[in-house]
Amino acid sequence: MAINWTEAQIEDVVAKVVKELGGEVSTARKDWDATQYEGRKFIGVYADMNDAIDAATAGYKAVRAMSLEEREKVIFKIRDFCRKEAPIMAALGVAETKMGKVGHKTAKHILVADKTPGTADIVAQARTGDYGLTLTEMAPFGVVGSITPSTNPSETVICNSIGMIAAGNGVVFNPHPNAIATSNYAVDLVNRACAAAGGPAVLVASVVKPTLDTAQIMYKHPNIRLLVCTGGPGVVRSVLSSGKKAIGAGAGNPPVIVDDTADIKKAGKDIIDGCSFDNNLPCIAEKEVFALKNIADELMYEMTKNGAYKITPAQAEKLADIVLVDVKNPKTGAVKKTVSRECVGRDAAVLLEKIGVKVGSDIRCIICETNFDHPFVQHELMMPILPIVRVKDIDEAIDLAVKAEHGNRHTAHMHSKNIDHLTRFARAVETTIFVKNAPSYAGIGFGGEGHTTFTIAGPTGEGLTSARSFTRYRRCVLSDAFRII
Ligand code: NAD
Repeated sequence: MAINWTEAQIEDVVAKVVKELGGEVSTARKDWDATQYEGRKFIGVYADMNDAIDAATAGYKAVRAMSLEEREKVIFKIRDFCRKEAPIMAALGVAETKMGKVGHKTAKHILVADKTPGTADIVAQARTGDYGLTLTEMAPFGVVGSITPSTNPSETVICNSIGMIAAGNGVVFNPHPNAIATSNYAVDLVNRACAAAGGPAVLVASVVKPTLDTAQIMYKHPNIRLLVCTGGPGVVRSVLSSGKKAIGAGAGNPPVIVDDTADIKKAGKDIIDGCSFDNNLPCIAEKEVFALKNIADELMYEMTKNGAYKITPAQAEKLADIVLVDVKNPKTGAVKKTVSRECVGRDAAVLLEKIGVKVGSDIRCIICETNFDHPFVQHELMMPILPIVRVKDIDEAIDLAVKAEHGNRHTAHMHSKNIDHLTRFARAVETTIFVKNAPSYAGIGFGGEGHTTFTIAGPTGEGLTSARSFTRYRRCVLSDAFRII
């Protein structure tokens, strides 16, 4: 069943969960810690990566000894704890990373709890014929090493844990250095849930201070049989060159096309809902729009009716100089524009204030009309800033949108009722996710059919990962028997 998450419903869910918890959760806290939360020491968090891998190895052995029913009981508890503690992790995530929105992050955790597949995703295949029966089973890899991002930290840890445990693996995490406390809270949650379901004390593990060096230990350790990486291009490249089997979930820059057959009113609202969700942190969120020239003004008007603030070209230049900074490559000396970490995931009002514009909290997205070469179109900003490029026809729209996606083959969106246009763009852009006539988050199960994941593996082809992505196929052949027909 699809969950129809409108803004109001998301706020409603958050209010209910906070009430059930019996109190407000503050985002103002400054006392986060990678080893404990309010005096409760995290389970499964180690000073040394080698110790964390040993603990995850013991966790793997314990999962292997469990029946599927027992594994499902653990997953049931993880879902339960994740639902109940969603507002805590959401608030901790915003406080620690200074990015995103508590309400939206809460909704993301509830989505993970509700729509991440468990053991039902693991299915055997049987083939019978003249020579008997051949069975193909989805077996665990062993211990998985998972690298997680700062943009959806605890969501990714819990989503990965459910899928990896369902598949029978142990997991060790190397979380993002800017989100260690939030990620380790989630590691602890998984272990508490496991113990509450009668499982071992430590099923998944992490480290107090994850670094590039601890990632290297993970890459080289003989017990790690599979690496799963969710992050930007640098880290995906590094796991893919590790020499181990790796799943890479990398960067996107999702374009949106709006043609003149679309319901413009709905398109304007859907695009702002998707683009402003968690301040544009999700890798699937709308990053730039290509609008046919005859509907572009109406589209921008509808956007402004739904919480968008339109800035002038001069203001856009001023903002671009703030949100993108020059970074020098220490080896080559070449200077490259990079998104400012001070601006990623910040509220639209905070970004507008940087160029001297004061707005209320009803403004959730900044829009501006730009040309195709503008840095707002070319860079994956992960901020609620949406450039709109006016195009003369659908051919130009598809051509430019494909170029703006930069071959990531991650996600693209389209608002249209013309099935030829929809089909042509989907074929040309070749993305893992293609959302038609809905906000981007429909692509991961919010108001759209299908399971959710926070690890979308475009580069290595697993797509929207689930338990079966973390398995290896094994064949068992029984010759000349068990064909009963
Ligand atoms: P990031 O690339 O800064 O970091 C990801 C993780 O990799 C962190 O844990 C970081 O410490 C680590 N890391 C970075 N370089 C490394 C290296 N050379 N070796 C080992 N570890 C390294 O990511 P972020 O800023 O937290 O997340 C945003 C990026 O991730 C965006 O590009 C976004 O599109 C992408 N992302 C993709 C998905 C997906 O499912 N495809 C999901 C979330 C985020």
